[in-house]
Amino acid sequence: MAPRPRRPAAFLDRDGVLNEDVGYAHQPDQIRWIEGAFEAVRSLNEAGYYVFVVTNQAGISRGYYNGQHVESLHRWMNDRMGEFDARIDDFRYSPFHPEFDDGTHAHLAHWRKPEPGMILDLMEHWPIKKTGSFLVGDRESDMVAAKASGIPGHLFSGGNIANFINREITQLRDLKVLK
Ligand SMILES: [Mg+2]
Repeated sequence: MAPRPRRPAAFLDRDGVLNEDVGYAHQPDQIRWIEGAFEAVRSLNEAGYYVFVVTNQAGISRGYYNGQHVESLHRWMNDRMGEFDARIDDFRYSPFHPEFDDGTHAHLAHWRKPEPGMILDLMEHWPIKKTGSFLVGDRESDMVAAKASGIPGHLFSGGNIANFINREITQLRDLKVLK
């Protein structure tokens, strides 16, 4: 297999960015897509971005669901993306919550946003060009995680996520950060 090319990456929070944050969604019938979700990811694919999801899933520490639920939901989400020619390259989720974990996930405490562990792990496993990379999230903890990993964070407060992402891509092109 040819080595993967070095590219900038878009790190997307999941709940509140790709799907409505209804609280502890872990199965397909709980997913209400944010307007423009498929188009946003496809735009990033076409602009030459790696697209990653970085999501806190404390529902695991709370015992509401487990990692297999999250992983099969993510496969389902990516299958829906595929129907629109969009692709998420990889996912990271943080199962840990400091108040509810019984110790099982304590080794992943640094993955829970506002900690940057999930982003840093992706940066280790993928050939990411930091210039042009960014994160989109709907909470301050997302912004803190972005800053701690050395990339800009953009706060999405609702509306059409494709418009939001396309504005960002256009700006980076105008600044000559992207071709
Ligand atoms: Mg969120």
